[in-house]
Amino acid sequence: MNLKEVISAQSANYDSFYLYDENQIIAYTGRLKQYFPNVEFLYSLKCNSNPLVVRSVFSQGLGADAASLGEVLIAGGAGLSKDKIYYSAPGKTLYDLEQAIGKSTVIADSIEEIKRIQAIAVKLDACIEIGVRINPDFSFCGSGGHPSKFGIDEKQLYEFLEESALKHVKITGIHVHLKSQELNAGVLAGYYENMIRLAQRFQLVNKCKLKYVNMGSGMGIPYSETDEPIDMEFLGNTVSKHLEAFRSSNPDTKILIEVGRYAVGKSGMYITKVLDRKISYGKVYLILKNTLNGFARPSLAKLVCKYSPDDFPEASEPLFTCRDAFAITTLPGHERPQEKVTLVGNLCTAADVIAEDIMMPRLTCGDVVIISNAGSYAAVLSPFQFSAQEKPAELFLTKGGEVLF
Ligand SMILES: *Cc1c(COP(=O)(O)O)cnc(C)c1O
Repeated sequence: MNLKEVISAQSANYDSFYLYDENQIIAYTGRLKQYFPNVEFLYSLKCNSNPLVVRSVFSQGLGADAASLGEVLIAGGAGLSKDKIYYSAPGKTLYDLEQAIGKSTVIADSIEEIKRIQAIAVKLDACIEIGVRINPDFSFCGSGGHPSKFGIDEKQLYEFLEESALKHVKITGIHVHLKSQELNAGVLAGYYENMIRLAQRFQLVNKCKLKYVNMGSGMGIPYSETDEPIDMEFLGNTVSKHLEAFRSSNPDTKILIEVGRYAVGKSGMYITKVLDRKISYGKVYLILKNTLNGFARPSLAKLVCKYSPDDFPEASEPLFTCRDAFAITTLPGHERPQEKVTLVGNLCTAADVIAEDIMMPRLTCGDVVIISNAGSYAAVLSPFQFSAQEKPAELFLTKGGEVLF
């Protein structure tokens, strides 16, 4: 069965559902392996922690970037070993740390956290290897550093390392993540080059050799029709070049890049059904199942566009990416006349709108509407609890053509 046939068949069973296509996951993760042979990739579970998606990504050889103890446990449960699970997040509790040490590679997000881990190590009479998340002296685009809730300012960290005698904690890795959804390969390459320089600076002050340099993420995917995909061949070659000198003096240091949306964002689509159709003062409304509460991002995008004069409001990822980030289509069928429609959801709030006055083939009750770019920050970001509605189903189409849920 091809995708269209699967959508058509499953819409008889479900009024709203996600469909993840494993072939897309294989294609996207395959590109990472092809163009970055010297880099190990981690999957950022927070973008989609559906167990079938997670297992599929891990089966392609990626490790885990876990943003909570819960994600550490999901990654371990899916069969990853401790050394392939990196746990990095601000505000870990003592309980989070105690549980995660032993199950993952913990990355401290603050000086306070390093001290907390040191206290755990003393209690266990052990030496614990950790990474640290750094807020570097450079920004994503290369200018100076910025205040951030993430990580430890680079200068503060060096001062701390000089002053403190860490006996029970060894820092064997560094981590930085500054931005998501970058499509410009030149900007990404510049950032990765700065990361390698940071690793070299860090080596000069740190007492032990780095086992890994986690360069974070940044790799974007095209959302709107005008977005161009990243030139991965150029990016891969440039990163390899920057890595050469570093490798010769640090042959055993792993280079890691984290990807969430790049691995799975394009693999998912959201399918919802027309529940009702009405005309009010001449305007055609199509009422769809579970929009704001099933796939929140298209409705949130409408709100952001309404309130923000800015095309790219700062720090709004992953709630908002850009205008026109989602293609809205239906199944191809017999010729139908086009009409101007407004697509809204079935919640009792006027904010539940995904598109206003767009042209679509004429749809009637029971027809399906398909929304693209629903593989990442989609099911996980949607407020399912609102108004005690049923959740959309999550279906997974395997590379062998089987539908799992
Ligand atoms: C969310 C997150 C990512 C993944 O971002 P994408 O844009 O989905 O690739 C990577 N690293 C860290 C630290 C994150 O918080």
